[in-house]
Amino acid sequence: MKKKEKRICTLERQIAKIKQDINTIGDLRRGSLSEQYNVCGTLGCKCKATPPEKHGPYYQLSFTQNGRSSTRFVNSKCVRKVKMQVKNYSRLRKLVEKWLELGTELSDLKISDELK
Ligand SMILES: [Zn+2]
Repeated sequence: MKKKEKRICTLERQIAKIKQDINTIGDLRRGSLSEQYNVCGTLGCKCKATPPEKHGPYYQLSFTQNGRSSTRFVNSKCVRKVKMQVKNYSRLRKLVEKWLELGTELSDLKISDELK
């Protein structure tokens, strides 16, 4: 097999693997999670002591949707799930990026065949 045909085979195999991987990705969510600690308004509260013992952690999800950025609080009971969803989305983006990279090379090889 010629070098070019071999490369096309390899690229097609790698792309097929990416598609398989994408198939296994679970729930998705856009954004990034952050931990926050707050101070309240209650006089003599531990959050105003020295050293202060602030309230929290509270979890906040920041994300951009339809060009608008927003934040929302995440119940601490859901943090693990939301973390996983955010991680899944990041994995999907990496896989799609790789797919595009390989796909572009593959398309170039195929197009150069047609131009002969
Ligand atoms: Zn307080």
